[in-house]
Amino acid sequence: MIFGNLLRKFLLLELWQGMWVTLKNQFRPHITVEYPRETLEFAPRFRGVPRLRRDPQTGEELCISCLLCEAICPTECISIVSEKKADGKGKDLVSFTINYERCCFCGLCVDPCPTKPITAIYMSHDYEFAGYDRDVYVADRRELVDGLPVKLYDR
Ligand code: SF4
Ligand code: SF4
Repeated sequence: MIFGNLLRKFLLLELWQGMWVTLKNQFRPHITVEYPRETLEFAPRFRGVPRLRRDPQTGEELCISCLLCEAICPTECISIVSEKKADGKGKDLVSFTINYERCCFCGLCVDPCPTKPITAIYMSHDYEFAGYDRDVYVADRRELVDGLPVKLYDR
């Protein structure tokens, strides 16, 4: 037994076994991608960060400040401020923020949104965020509509 172990060590058998596994896998199709040069194709229902959108016809923001998304959010990361319109009919949106640090991407905020034919809030495909500052992850109304600015970091 001792002799067998010594022989394995002397012949570097574990090393050759490892090299053989590496060699075999060199010729298999790659299942990973070289991010960020390549990215995966997402399923249509992929849930990135929630965002707001405009009416594709008019370009107007769709949110009517009903507060339903704020009420249903389980992590309380949506914060909306609105005020009554001068004519008393409906509300004007003053501010709308989502704290992405607390968002769990559950998508519940989209379900009760009453705007038609598309919801004002939606789960986007955006997921590439990185920053040194926590404020980066609190998206205000403009960023929710237009998207967060992408920063490229050099080494
Ligand atoms: S996805 Fe879920 S956690 Fe995130 S804002 Fe919507 S309801 Fe809140
Ligand atoms: S549920 Fe829709 S319309 Fe109501 S406040 Fe949220 S985003 Fe705006």
